[in-house]
Amino acid sequence: MTARLIDGKAIAASIRERLKNSVAEFQNSTNVTPKLAAILVGEDPASQVYVRNKEQACAKAGIASEVHRLSGTITQSELLDLVARLNSDKTVHGILVQLPLPKQINETTVLDSVTPLKDVDCFHPENVGRLAQGRPRFLPCTPHGVQVLLRESNVNVDGTHVVVLGRSEIVGKPVGLMLVQKGETANATVTICHSRTRNLTEMTRSADILIAAIGKPEFVTREMVKPGAVVIDVGINRVEDKLLGDVAFDEVSSVASAITPVPGGVGPMTIAMLLENTLMAAKLQGTVNKIT
Ligand code: NDP
Repeated sequence: MTARLIDGKAIAASIRERLKNSVAEFQNSTNVTPKLAAILVGEDPASQVYVRNKEQACAKAGIASEVHRLSGTITQSELLDLVARLNSDKTVHGILVQLPLPKQINETTVLDSVTPLKDVDCFHPENVGRLAQGRPRFLPCTPHGVQVLLRESNVNVDGTHVVVLGRSEIVGKPVGLMLVQKGETANATVTICHSRTRNLTEMTRSADILIAAIGKPEFVTREMVKPGAVVIDVGINRVEDKLLGDVAFDEVSSVASAITPVPGGVGPMTIAMLLENTLMAAKLQGTVNKIT
């Protein structure tokens, strides 16, 4: 079997095109320009690239953005002051704190300080709680990107066994939570695996849909995949200047029925979902940012 390629780049491009129109409509009817404020602390090269990509994507969609670039030596209370200012700035609709933060700063404290209505990454406990209860406000960007990829490539999720490799707060747990809910592109039976899972290959081989998010290059091999399974690779691992996923793409393609590439799979979807959340945040917050 040669797997069908799930082209995240193309799917994300069409979502961003649609979104551009929605942003323009929203702007025309409200005179409000949705705005994302990103906070970048320190000099981490990958974080700088991610924030630049998000800035460019905002501009293309007609969303305003501002980036607060802060020294890696900033104190926690200075950072909390900035978040508080952005929370009360009526021209800012979405706030994104680029992770990781330097050691002197408690990430949880900072993420919890973002007001839930501007929490476009869906990290605030109120938003995660709502997600768990099946009444989400924002959907977390990467898990939502995975769900939309499945929907747009006509993968039937209802009643299937989804196995998620990884239990992080940013990918593994929320993607499991979303796919187990009642609803479209959901209703799955979900197993979440992690580093303490026994008989991992037995688990992964029982998956109709396998989602890999562990951060280990080409960890998922052919033997770990049931013939005909759909494989979604969330991993982004830089190895000798090359980007590799968590799945050994060539060998797994010979057994899976559909698979996402890296790059060009889940990655572009994450940004598209962030833009959607920013527009939604602007809608939620009403019409305050009048253009003069
Ligand atoms: P984390 O490091 O936070 O979590 C990794 C998870 O994998 C943990 O739950 C860990 O288990 C589990 N794990 C690690 N090794 C094994 C193993 N040998 N067997 C089973 N489970 C294992 O990673 P993230 O969720 O933040 O990211 C995962 C990957 O996805 C990374 O490559 C990251 O770059 C990428 N990513 C991509 C995004 C995108 O937009 N495409 C967005 C976010 C992340 P335990 O909890 O027991 O330690």
